[in-house]
Amino acid sequence: MSSTIVRTRIAPSPTGDPHVGTAYQALFNYAFAKGRGGRFILRIEDTDQARSTQASELAILESLRWLGIQWDEGPDIGGPHAPYRQSERLAVYREQVERLLAGGHAYRCFCTRERLEAMRRRQGAESGYDRACRDMPVAEAERRAAAGETHVVRMKIPLEGDCGFRDLLRGEIRKDWASVDDQVLLKSDGFPTYHLAVVTDDHLMGVTHVIRGEEWINSVPKHVKLYEHLGWDLPVFCHLPLLRNNDKNRTKLSKRKNPTSIGYYRRAGFLPEALLNFLGMMGWLMPDGEEKFSVADMVAHLELERISLGGPIFDLDKLKWLNGRYIREDLSAEALLERLAEWGLGRERLVRIVPLVQPRLETLSDWGYLTAPFFADAVPLDPTLLRIPGRTDEELRGILQMVLWRLGALSEFTAPRLDALLRETAEALELKLRQLLQPLFIVLSGREAWTPLFDSLEILGPDIARMRLRRAIAALGGLSGKQLQALEEEYARRFGPRE
Ligand code: GLU
Repeated sequence: MSSTIVRTRIAPSPTGDPHVGTAYQALFNYAFAKGRGGRFILRIEDTDQARSTQASELAILESLRWLGIQWDEGPDIGGPHAPYRQSERLAVYREQVERLLAGGHAYRCFCTRERLEAMRRRQGAESGYDRACRDMPVAEAERRAAAGETHVVRMKIPLEGDCGFRDLLRGEIRKDWASVDDQVLLKSDGFPTYHLAVVTDDHLMGVTHVIRGEEWINSVPKHVKLYEHLGWDLPVFCHLPLLRNNDKNRTKLSKRKNPTSIGYYRRAGFLPEALLNFLGMMGWLMPDGEEKFSVADMVAHLELERISLGGPIFDLDKLKWLNGRYIREDLSAEALLERLAEWGLGRERLVRIVPLVQPRLETLSDWGYLTAPFFADAVPLDPTLLRIPGRTDEELRGILQMVLWRLGALSEFTAPRLDALLRETAEALELKLRQLLQPLFIVLSGREAWTPLFDSLEILGPDIARMRLRRAIAALGGLSGKQLQALEEEYARRFGPRE
């Protein structure tokens, strides 16, 4: 045994809703580090300036806290290798770029977007960069850079041979360099790409085990080269099997087929310990084969080598079954009451609901019926009630999809913002406000009339609201890939590009 202290990390990108995949990575990284007396780091990978948001970063921290996965170093608590937000480490990456340039392992590329697009049209969308700038004399490149010409820095991938590395779960993996592109390392905005940032930070932060999703395995050869050029030792690589939808082709978990946002599971009333158990089960079982286990059990027993590579199926029914077991087997009535209060039956939430219901109550016992949509996951939906006069069903599905995207882009889910957003959406879609709100009432409450929409929507929250929209679209027959693509284009025309 070496005396190095185990250090693991997750590096989520703060774009959009915190994903169950992040919780899955966090769980394995956390359990492994804790089981070895090591440290677990949270690093925020906000290298994509256009898509990263502070709201998303806060939501990631909040979701992990809800799950009870505590990091030892991170953007909020600091640590010996601060800062832990990549956008605050630009000078660190630039220094590595200078070293790579000086060593002749990287080069400046001045190709314009137009040139690259024309090249792709000529050679096919899949083709890599044609390396036009790779042989430019260094003096010329330096002169152009000094004159302020926009450029990126790319790494020089070997032109022949192959690369080998070890994945802890898969053994030796080899890849021909011919299939690897001259990866951009530094973008023209001065931000690093994922590849440069991940290698630099994993090294400088002393990460000993890189445990992450399988989708990154193809990037490892580039990373291995960077480690070599920068003179750094490799960490252990362990790529966890991808979570998959429970569909015929076992496709990669996607929000079109399954809820993927941690917030959804929280609002739908799953217990954090059940969700973690379920995510743990996706790659691992207790040595005795037991399916129900706690994070503490995982900390005590997890061995990375025993992670199973079979494509784990994210089966919602199984999660519900497991969650039910936790509710029945592990909680006293008193403890369950507390959980219910924390979840949505607490005073804090009820005081927001009461003023909405009060004008509609004849007796106190009307409360149950009137407020049911606030406490449900799905609501009963009669698709025949869902119509917009003068619009086809297909148009209606498209409209609901655009509302879904619009809601997803909203940074603050408050009644005034929802009011403004839905008015603007109706106008852009050439609908009267009423024509848009009427079907939304039904989608969100399962009824033709409910408490006032914007306030109710605020209390319902984005996760449940969006899930009900998704379910309604599916109940109306769903949208094909082609229809979605056409809608994306329409959306961009009417509302600007989607994040
Ligand atoms: N930002 C990447 C992700 O969230 C990090 C991948 C990695 O762990 O290297 O998937």
